[in-house]
Amino acid sequence: MPRRGVATRAQVSGKLSKMLFELSVSDELGRYLEQLEERSNISLEETASVREVRKQYRRRKAIPPELIEEFNIARSKSQATWAEARRTSDFALFLPHLKKMVEYARRFADYYGYEDHPYDGLLEEYEPGMTSVQLRQIIEPLRGEIVRLIRRLSDQGSRPDSSLLEGTFDIDTQRRLARRALKVIGYDFDAGSLDDVPHPFTTAIAPGDVRVTNRYVDAAFTPGLFAALHEGGHALYDQGMDEKLFHLRLARGASYGVHESQSRMIENVVGRSRPFWMFFQPILAEFFPQFTHASPDDLYRAVNVVAPSLIRVEADEVTYNLHIMLRIEIETGLIDGSITAADLPRRWNETIERYLSVVPANDAQGVLQDVHWSMGSLGYFPSYMLGNLYAAQLHAKLRDEVTDLDERIASGNLRALVDWLRENVHRYGAVYPPTELIQRITGSPLDTSHFMRYITEKYADVYRL
Ligand code: ZN
Repeated sequence: MPRRGVATRAQVSGKLSKMLFELSVSDELGRYLEQLEERSNISLEETASVREVRKQYRRRKAIPPELIEEFNIARSKSQATWAEARRTSDFALFLPHLKKMVEYARRFADYYGYEDHPYDGLLEEYEPGMTSVQLRQIIEPLRGEIVRLIRRLSDQGSRPDSSLLEGTFDIDTQRRLARRALKVIGYDFDAGSLDDVPHPFTTAIAPGDVRVTNRYVDAAFTPGLFAALHEGGHALYDQGMDEKLFHLRLARGASYGVHESQSRMIENVVGRSRPFWMFFQPILAEFFPQFTHASPDDLYRAVNVVAPSLIRVEADEVTYNLHIMLRIEIETGLIDGSITAADLPRRWNETIERYLSVVPANDAQGVLQDVHWSMGSLGYFPSYMLGNLYAAQLHAKLRDEVTDLDERIASGNLRALVDWLRENVHRYGAVYPPTELIQRITGSPLDTSHFMRYITEKYADVYRL
């Protein structure tokens, strides 16, 4: 959108947000909710809508408006200081703001209420039904298994040669490749668009208007391609929601974690699979002829190198969850007071070394790398991990039901995959809470063994164990 319109758009959007907020905490809405909650003759979707709007109403009203205003001002300063602190790798500069953000998060948690742990009050925003106790039960066994798998791969495996991915790649050609990849997965350009930004994201106005953004670097085509597939996975979810959910305020993901499961499914489970590269290699070669004689198998292995790294957003499928576990441990400790903000760099560096045997050279590569805490968004990180876990569980079920899935994907036919996701996940939007959705689709609650089996089998193959 045109740069000179920024100020006017900000004013309009500020005004609308304020009006929306006032309506969303109004006594009038409270009365409507009470009336609706007494009615028994409303549909499944309407009942879900009342449940979701009630939840939001309760949470918004829980916080005194002056506190929200105060928080918003503190948050802008915190974010700006964090950006500067990350640039100069100066944790001390950010520390007072971090303390404040933790303090606000803690106060919000108290206002929202929780049964067991204040972190649960924050989790509810992103992953309804998830608790810190459940997270601990997920993380404890999984962490050890992942660490052992990484050791096995590095000790006994044969590391794929990724040098064939090297080169210089024309940005405009990459843009066209990203468009093609989005078409391949079934993204509807009549209900969307693809544009450039510094940090890729997907924004859904309505199921008929879901816009994808992406970025490209000329030193490699893989970041642009996989980011397009990732955002494309989010976009398929948003485009696939039943239109009637829009006015019921249910045209969004069941949770952040479920939304992330759809992007990880397309980016990793599908986009980094052997069947995908069997049909995608010739497509890649149309855009970049140097891959005309590359073998699909070599490409498949090259895009699946496991390399313990310092930076979460660059992490591979195997190490990724460890980055999240580290953050969850720290933020639960910050919220209950068992970890102090000042102790973060030491704590961070020790833990990442224990998990991944890497040590940050400075805090910019460590504790300062993510924007979330500077915005007071504590409780968001688990969704990234849960996304991976849900994706593996859904994929296991999908393969049970579509028995020739791999053959279909290898021949370039992703229809069965997308139809299954649409039928089982996308069309429901936020009608079912995440726990119920996963149970309904797979017949069991979240079960991390699917993820472990998925990465163990896949990487034993990639690393020829
Ligand atoms: Zn995502």
